[in-house]
Amino acid sequence: LGPTVCVGEILVEIVATTVGNGFMEAQPLVGPFASGAPAIFISQCGRLGGSAAMIGAVGADDFGRVNLERLKGDGVDISAISIDPDYPTGSAFVRYRKDGSRDFVYNIATSAAARFGWSEGVSNLIGRAGHLHVMGSALSVPSACEVIDKAVDIVKARGGTLSVDPNIRKELKLDEATEQRFAQLVAKADLLLPSGEELERAAGVEGETSAIRRLFEIGVKEIVLKRGADGATYYSREGERVDAPAFIVSEIDPTGAGDCFGGAYLTCRRLGMSATDALIYAAAAGARNVTVVGPMEGAGTREQLDAFIAATERRS
Ligand code: ADP
Repeated sequence: LGPTVCVGEILVEIVATTVGNGFMEAQPLVGPFASGAPAIFISQCGRLGGSAAMIGAVGADDFGRVNLERLKGDGVDISAISIDPDYPTGSAFVRYRKDGSRDFVYNIATSAAARFGWSEGVSNLIGRAGHLHVMGSALSVPSACEVIDKAVDIVKARGGTLSVDPNIRKELKLDEATEQRFAQLVAKADLLLPSGEELERAAGVEGETSAIRRLFEIGVKEIVLKRGADGATYYSREGERVDAPAFIVSEIDPTGAGDCFGGAYLTCRRLGMSATDALIYAAAAGARNVTVVGPMEGAGTREQLDAFIAATERRS
């Protein structure tokens, strides 16, 4: 029915090389790495051989070129990514704390990532899209919201499907209008990919079982709940449940796990796999990505994930 399209922020990420408290001490940094949750997601789709395309914007600078070359190399259609002549590519600096949590310093609001809108390229792409994937983080950008609203309506009207990853980091506070927009988006999702407490936030009710019931009541068809190193669980509206134990790896850089997981799950389903089989590739994609420094440096091809699955034990 047409490509999987992801819309949202394209960034570079620059990663601290020490683990500690905050960003106060001078130290070597590594990067720039192609990044932005939607870009990681679509990179994983492309690497797995799914038909994939991205909507967003970069600046006319090397940080933009890092992303464009990476996505193109992964087989992603970049025709609807605009190059902003006036604003730089967005960036995120990340630093890990000893307890495993992360601190980000973002430059998104004054970057190209926050300035893209509807264009001829976007219109051409959305007119042939089979699936749209939206991250909640994109809703903090007003012009992106316009693109998302229009794109959701067009894709759904032509029989396409929608997946939503709430992806609401604690740093990204939503105002009331955005919260409402988020709730409307969730209700239209065929597939919801929350992580941890995002499940209850998306449902607006407490308790995992109640949250899942509520989400199915409002229209969601499938939910895959991500639980980091504890694995993931699939729920269908028809009452099916599949647990996907995590692969046993040593985590070096957790950024991008959920996006690789989601991109792999969706692509495998769109390529015709059962939920059970797609979950194995998704768990492998998430686990493989955390073993490598950089947000999408560990995103695997089909061959790489097959080799990873054959060589890696899973939790019971
Ligand atoms: P998010 O990045 O959206 O918070 P998670 O951290 O839950 O998502 O990661 C998504 C999936 O990736 C998990 O459900 C799991 O399958 C896999 N994963 C993430 N971290 C690890 C880890 N440390 N070890 C093994 N698998 C992991």
